[in-house]
Amino acid sequence: MKAAILSVGTELLFGEILNTNTKYLSQQLNDLGIDILYHYTVGDNPKRLSETIKDALKNCDLILTTGGLGPTQDDMTKEIVAEVLHDELCLDKAILKALEAQFKRRNWNMTENNRKQAYFPSRAVIFENHFGTAPGFALTEGKKIVICMPGPPKEMQPMFLNQVKPYLNKDRNGFLSYQMLRLFGIGESSLETALLELIDRQTDPTLATYAKQGEVKLRIASKRETEEEAEAAVKEMVERVKEIVGDYIYSENGEELYEVVGKLLLKKNITLSCAESCTGGLFAETITNMAGISEVFDRGIVTYSNRAKIEELGVKEVTLERFGAVSEQTAIEMAEGLQKISGSELCIAVTGIAGPTGATEDKPVGLIYLCVRYGEKTICKELRTGNSDRIWNRNYALLHMLFLIYKTIL
Ligand code: AMP
Ligand code: MG
Repeated sequence: MKAAILSVGTELLFGEILNTNTKYLSQQLNDLGIDILYHYTVGDNPKRLSETIKDALKNCDLILTTGGLGPTQDDMTKEIVAEVLHDELCLDKAILKALEAQFKRRNWNMTENNRKQAYFPSRAVIFENHFGTAPGFALTEGKKIVICMPGPPKEMQPMFLNQVKPYLNKDRNGFLSYQMLRLFGIGESSLETALLELIDRQTDPTLATYAKQGEVKLRIASKRETEEEAEAAVKEMVERVKEIVGDYIYSENGEELYEVVGKLLLKKNITLSCAESCTGGLFAETITNMAGISEVFDRGIVTYSNRAKIEELGVKEVTLERFGAVSEQTAIEMAEGLQKISGSELCIAVTGIAGPTGATEDKPVGLIYLCVRYGEKTICKELRTGNSDRIWNRNYALLHMLFLIYKTIL
C-alpha cells in the first residue's frame, strides 16, 4: 500500500508550530509496512487543499490527513475530502447527540458552528474523539482511502492507535511483524557488508539499516499470511543476523542504550558513579532518565578544571603536568579516585577535547579517553572522532561510555 501524509493548517506554513503529526504518522505507517511516498503540507485554503488531495491520489492508495476538522470557518478538510471523493455531508445524529452530551458534561456552551462537527460524508466510517470535539473519519472511493484526523496530537494519536490502526489492519492482506535491532561500534556500511548475503537474497524477511551517530538500527520485517508465520520468520532471521554481528547488538527490541545499561546494572545490582570532564554531566543526566536508577547510581561529579580533578578525585598534579588533562593516565586516575571516594563497584571517567577549539600539536579535537574501574579491573578506551562539532563529540563520548559499561558488565 502506498500512502501520503497531508498536514492541513496555515500555522504550519508560517512555522508557528512544528509538524510533529507527520513524524508520528510516518513512524506508525512504517511499522505497519505501508510505504509513504509523500509528505504534503497545505494551508487552510479550499482550492489548494483540493488540488493537493487529487495530486496525492494519483500515486497513492491512502492519504492520512490531520488538521482542519474543527468547528470554525477555516476548518474545511471534511468538506473538501467529501467533494473530491464524490460524496456529501450529512448530519450524523448519533455524533450530534454525543457532542451535545460532551458539551453538557463539561459545562460548555454549544454554539451553532459546533453542530458542524456532527456532519460527515455519507459513506464515512467515523472515528470518535475521546479527547476533543472533532471526530475523525475514513472515506473510500474504489480502492482509494482518505482518513482524516484532528490536528492536536493529543487527540490524533489515540485516535490513530485505537481506531485508525485497526481499521487499516482489517483491510490488508497479510500480517507484518518486525523487530528493531540496535547495534553500536559498527558503521552502517560495515554492517551492510557483513550482512550482504542476507540482504542480497532478501525478499522476505527484509532487512533495512538506519544510521544514527555512531549507532545503527537494523529493521527485520516479514509479511506473511498469519501473524505467527511472520513472527517466526523474523525470529529466524534475527538469529542468523546475531551469528554474524551479535557482538555489536545491544538491544533486540529498540530500547535505548542507556535503558539497556540501566536495566543491566539494576538486575546485577552493580553500583555506579561517574566523573565527567568533556561531557560536563551528560552521562549523569542520561543515566538518571531511567526510573529506579537511584537503587544503583551513587554520584556523578563534573570535574572540568585541573584543580577539580585534583581536589575532587585525587588526580596527581604530576600526572596532569606530564601527560595532560586529556590522557589515558588522567582518565585512569579519575576513575580510581572516584572509586575511592564513592565506593561504587563500577566507576567511569571521561576526559577529552570536545572542540571546536582546544586542540594542541599532538592532541586533536575529538580525542577522548574513557576509563572504567570495575572492581579491581581497569579498562580504558581511546576515541578519535575526527569531528570538530562539540555537541556531536560529547554525544559520541556518552554513547561509548554506555557501551563500554555494557560490554564490561555483560
Ligand atoms: P486543527 O485541527 O486544524 O484545528 O488544528 C488544531 C491544532 O492542532 C493546531 O493549532 C496545532 O496546535 C495542532 N496541530 C495541527 N496540525 C498539527 C501538526 N501537523 N503537527 C502538530 N500539531 C498540529
Ligand atoms: Mg486548523
